Parts: sequence; structure tokens; C-alpha cells
Amino acid sequence: MPGPLRLTGISASAGYAEGPLFNLEPAAARYAGKATAADEKAALEAAIGVAAGRLAGLMETADDEAAGILEFQVAMLEDDALTGPAFAAIAAGQPADAAWRQALDAEIAGYETSDQDYFRARAADMRDIRDQVLRALTEDGEIAAPAGAIFYGEDIAPTRFLETDWSSGGGIALKAGSAASHVAMLARSRGVPMVVGLGVVGLGASPAHLAGIALLDAEHGGIVLSPSKAEIDAFRRSSRSFAARRDRAETYLQKPAVTKAGTAVRVQVNIADPSDVDGIDISTCDGAGLMRTEFLFGKTLPDEETQYRAYRKVLEWAGEKPVTIRTVDAGGDKPVPGFTVEEGNPFLGLRGIRLSLARTEVFRVQIRALLRAAVHGNLKVMFPMIAVMDEYQRAAALFAEEQAGLSARGVACKMPPLGIMVEVPSVAIAPEAFSGVAFFSIGSNDLTQYVMAAARDNASVAHLNSVRHPAVLRLIASVAAFGQAQGIPVSLCGDAGGDPASIPALLEAGLRDLSVVPAQLAMAKAAIADVAF
Ligand code: PEP
Ligand code: MG
Repeated sequence: MPGPLRLTGISASAGYAEGPLFNLEPAAARYAGKATAADEKAALEAAIGVAAGRLAGLMETADDEAAGILEFQVAMLEDDALTGPAFAAIAAGQPADAAWRQALDAEIAGYETSDQDYFRARAADMRDIRDQVLRALTEDGEIAAPAGAIFYGEDIAPTRFLETDWSSGGGIALKAGSAASHVAMLARSRGVPMVVGLGVVGLGASPAHLAGIALLDAEHGGIVLSPSKAEIDAFRRSSRSFAARRDRAETYLQKPAVTKAGTAVRVQVNIADPSDVDGIDISTCDGAGLMRTEFLFGKTLPDEETQYRAYRKVLEWAGEKPVTIRTVDAGGDKPVPGFTVEEGNPFLGLRGIRLSLARTEVFRVQIRALLRAAVHGNLKVMFPMIAVMDEYQRAAALFAEEQAGLSARGVACKMPPLGIMVEVPSVAIAPEAFSGVAFFSIGSNDLTQYVMAAARDNASVAHLNSVRHPAVLRLIASVAAFGQAQGIPVSLCGDAGGDPASIPALLEAGLRDLSVVPAQLAMAKAAIADVAF
């Protein structure tokens, strides 16, 4: 029996799982070559048809979120740009399996080597497509995982996730993977524990380690292979405590958030797609503290009408409660094809407001949509990645110009209060330059990575990327104090706001207004109720 092996990664979906490991690496497939190129072509066409049929079958029982992922895969399978090189290779004499693998591997390599997390996350979808067609070609079935297994490997295919019955537990432990992947989103919404970025699981682990029971702690981001008896006992205690906290948290959902001493805390939600609000009862939160608009900027740049409808939907959902919409924060970990630029260091490059001010023809469309939507509710608008006051002034001037233009044309519109994200250290250190803005919203995800020089999406420096480091907390406290003294409202909309372990420190730093991911709303309110002052 080997000694315990502990590996750390990044939590992509909180929770605990104890069970056997199930190796996700696909066994080498055996393909029986055909006599002619025409037969090879027919075999590949048939295999693509089988894969498309499997996706269609999964789509029948999929919810909106899963359907969106599956539609992406179907669209890729139907895309000649993807399949064309494989058919060309077959015509040149290659067997179907090698032709398909080569064509897809070339495409996947482009995604995997991107320096942008978003594209790396889509590589999992491409591998999924590759393997589904290869399986159909070789007629190799997928080996079933035992109930309650912890799937481990480089990455997991979205279809594998959707086909797995998670009702008897289990979890996901990935050497690579990404918290921004489709599977991570599905895991969070279905409560399946998941850790990414474990890196060395295959290197440090012996076959005996991999054959035994594993303990997946996806609350803190780690896994223990071949655990000791004491580790199993401690793990079960943590797991029970997590389940109890989650159950107890549900009872807080309908109540306003207050600390033990009765201090009221506003808790709003972070949303992206307007359909996110369909599942949220507005009475359980104080509005939307951050609507990210990057999702609207997909394959094509959205027109004014599309944006107007999206913003209006969320404003009407919120009624009189505030909705803070952030102008597009493209770049960094959120590239938008056709808008963002390829850069050596995208986190320090042309992202957020910098890009909007460089591409004012795109920015003005969003501004008009926001000004028009503002008449339908309690809108606030904020700018991402502000570093200097001049950026705010130029953005505000564009709002004033567009409002004048709309009014001159008799189009109904309204100027919303304009605020800024505090996520670049220059603003947090010297906020006095910004005393003219309507509000501050602290972006703790970026503020932390810039203060600690530790990328938010890199597991090997995850131990440094902590909002609870005194340097980050001191900055947050000084921004909160500055806002209080100047009468500028200060909220926080980074992921730390929904993290029960960080909430006491954030309240201690003086914050009374948090915006959290909807899945963390109940947990955040329960954590606030535990704070003494
Ligand atoms: C942040 O940086 O904390 C934030 C809320 O913005 P995003 O995560 O979208 O960069
Ligand atoms: Mg940010």
C-alpha cells in the first residue's frame, strides 16, 4: 500500500467526492482500413453521422445550458472548414481514422496553444468531437465508469459529463482543464465537485495510487490518493460540514442578509447571459451588481437592437432594483474574435475600456443600446479596467454625445449613473483621482491577480492568488474608506464576494455591498449571518 499522495489544483465546482478513480484517457482505437478512398470517405461520412445522431439524442433531454454546448458541437461537425481537410487527406490516400485525427489534432493544437483561457477551454469540445467520430469509426464503445467514480485525466468531454449519472455521487479531477470550460459551467450548475489544474497526477502517482480510493476536495481544490485512515475521517467531517452548510444556507435565501449584530449587507447577483435571470427570484437578491456583456460579443459583434433587448430584459426582471451593466470587457481571459487583438501578454494589454476607447465605432453601438434600455428600469453603467481618470472622462463624454444624438432624433433614452470597476491597482492605491465618478465596484478577481502578480487562471500560482492576502485586503479597505468619506458607494463584484471563507474579511474591510454568482447567493447570505459585528 503506497503512502498518501496529495495534489493541489483549482476548484472549478465546490463539493466533496470519495470514490474509485476512473481513468478518462481513451484506449487506442483499432480501425479496419477500407479498400478504396471512396469507401474511406463513406466510412468517415457515416461516422460523422453517428456522432451527430448521438448529439441529437443527448439534445432531446438537455436543458438550455447543455443544449447550447451540444449545438456548438453539432455546428462544428457540420462545418466544412473542419471536415474539409480530413476529406482532402482521404482523397490523397489516407485512411479515414488517420485523416480525421490529423485534421482535428491540427485544429485542437491551435486552441490548446492559445494564450487565452477561453480558447483553451474550447479545446475540450474539439477533442470531444474528434473522439466521438473516432469511436464511431472503430465501433469502440466507451467503458462505463463505476457509480460514484472520480473521473480523472487530462480533460473530460462535455458529452461524457452529460451521459454520466451523477445521482450516486462522483466528481471530476483534471490534470489540465479550466474553470472556464463548458464542463465546469455544467458541474457548477449541477453541483458536481470538480478540480482542475492538478498537473502532476499522472507523474507522481504509481499504479497502486491510481487503483485505490481517492478523496476529492473541490471546496479547496485538491485530491488525496491512497489516503490514510485519519485523512479519510477528516475528509468525511469536512464533507458533512459542507453538506450541512449548503442545506442550512438554503434557509437564508428568502431573508435579507444581516450579520449577527444586525448589520445589513446588500447582496446582488452577477449575471452574463440575460437568460441567467430566468432562474433567479428577484426577491432573493438586491439586484444585479454586475452584468458582464462580453457573452453578447460572440462570433459576430452584436448590433444595437440585440444589445438593447438583452439589457431591457434584465432591467425589467429587476423592476425597481438596480442593475449594473458593465461595458464590454473583452480581452485578457475573455477574447472576442474580430474585436480583441492577439498580444504577448493579454492581461496587461488592450482589454476592457482600453479596447472600447480604441474601437469607438463598436463602443458607440453599446452606448446607444444602454442609453435606450435605461428608460426600462434602474440602470447603472460601469467601465472595466479603468487605470486613469482620463479613460473615465473619455467614456463619459461618448455617453453624453450619444445621448445628445438620440435625443435630437427623438429616441427615448436616459443617462444612467456612470461608475468604474476598481480592479487595476493604480485606482485602488490612488482613488482620489476618481472622486467625480458615481460609484466604485471592486473587481477582486483582477485586483488580486495584479497585486499578487499571479494569473487568475494558472493553477501553479493559485496559492498566491488570494484575496485574503493582507496587501489585497488593505487596498480594499482603503477604497471602502475613501468611498465612505466621499459619499461614493463601493461594492465588490469579484468571485470573492460569494466565497464564504472570504466574506468575514471583506466585511471587516468595510464593505457592505457584495455581488455574487447566483449559485453562491444562499451560501453568501449564510456566511454573512455568521459574522459577529
Ligand atoms: C473582477 O475582475 O473581479 C471582475 C468581476 O471582472 P471579471 O471577472 O469579469 O474580469
Ligand atoms: Mg475583471
